[in-house]
Amino acid sequence: KSPHNVGLIIGVTGIVGNSLAEILPDSDTPGGPWKVYGVARRPRPAWNADHPVEYVQCDVSDSKETQSKLSPLTDVTHIFWVTWANRPTEAECCEINGTMLRNVLDALLPNAPYLTHICIQTGHKHYLGPFEAFRKIKFYETPFIEDVPRLDFPNFYYTLEDMTLEACKKKQGMTWSVHRPALIFGFSPYSMMNVVDDLGIYAAICKHENVPLTFPGNKVAWNCYFVASDADLIAEQQIWSSIDPNGKNEAFNCSNGDLFKWKHLWKILADKFEVEYEEFDENQEYVSLSDRMKDKGPVWDEIVKKNNLLPTKLEEVASFWFADLVFLGECMLDSMNKSKEHGFLGFKNTQNSFISVLDKMKAHKIVP
Ligand code: NAD
Repeated sequence: KSPHNVGLIIGVTGIVGNSLAEILPDSDTPGGPWKVYGVARRPRPAWNADHPVEYVQCDVSDSKETQSKLSPLTDVTHIFWVTWANRPTEAECCEINGTMLRNVLDALLPNAPYLTHICIQTGHKHYLGPFEAFRKIKFYETPFIEDVPRLDFPNFYYTLEDMTLEACKKKQGMTWSVHRPALIFGFSPYSMMNVVDDLGIYAAICKHENVPLTFPGNKVAWNCYFVASDADLIAEQQIWSSIDPNGKNEAFNCSNGDLFKWKHLWKILADKFEVEYEEFDENQEYVSLSDRMKDKGPVWDEIVKKNNLLPTKLEEVASFWFADLVFLGECMLDSMNKSKEHGFLGFKNTQNSFISVLDKMKAHKIVP
């Protein structure tokens, strides 16, 4: 059977890009057999190399490079937008993320006649406002639901949505979907925000230094209910939207369908790394994970060497600033009703998802 669906993953080494690269080419994936292209900026890393994907190294913020590398991909039918760029202000984020999407659309729209669908991944910041707006504007009450008016603050998620809808208006028959995950649990050492990655590294460092695994957050984050989004589940929802008419031209939340508490995952993390588990202690002085880890570069180098891990630098694989935001947060729940009512019934067990990401990190020798 020759492929009739051809996916282009923009951000193939990212937290969801890597899941898409694993799932899309599977013979039993809906809409398959898929042919898959995967785009990322850096050379292809070893942990991504087994996926049967045609790898295209391209910086999509560069219009000339994007035109020359992506315009020859004339058979693309679906775009999976699972990338982003961070900048100091949200106005700059709107600018750079808009430029990246514009470059890809300019390369594809005139040259890929069978292009039928664009999936855009955004997230809960649709309801919270961007990082810059945290604690400055009133965000939506939880559980977040999809069809609320936009917040009155610039947001690159809105830029991406507007540009995508505009492109679909111009090309007859082309459809879109927007996917808004919560905190993502997935495997990618290249992700700019990967909380499970951060925790695996933190636990490995605690083990190496023979100190207990204390929680680098506040009491609310330790005790309250959270939702997470498994990266494979997000990939499955995006694939569903790509081929099911009920998944088209809509925005969907995408979380696992259960609740978790960090205090429960903490025990699992401690056991996985054979490090001493410690309950949250209210009397303990708060020290952020970034501060705890700020001089640990040489320690990480030692751990990598001693355990024969894939060579990495701490600053490359960790996003402790992001973990700090999560562990000072309150419960951010969303509703999966709309997604279910439209026919996507996927779910994941968050504890299993957490364990599976840690196992992948160990299997790929990112952590001991
Ligand atoms: P990521 O950081 O995990 O991956 C980004 C990918 O894009 C990588 O493959 C990277 O190499 C690639 N990339 C970056 N700049 C590029 C460029 N100029 N040219 C080519 N490739 C480039 O991404 P993510 O976390 O999946 O983020 C996608 C969206 O999901 C963002 O809008 C983010 O805010 C949102 N989101 C993320 C999380 C999370 O926990 N990570 C949670 C909710 C929402």
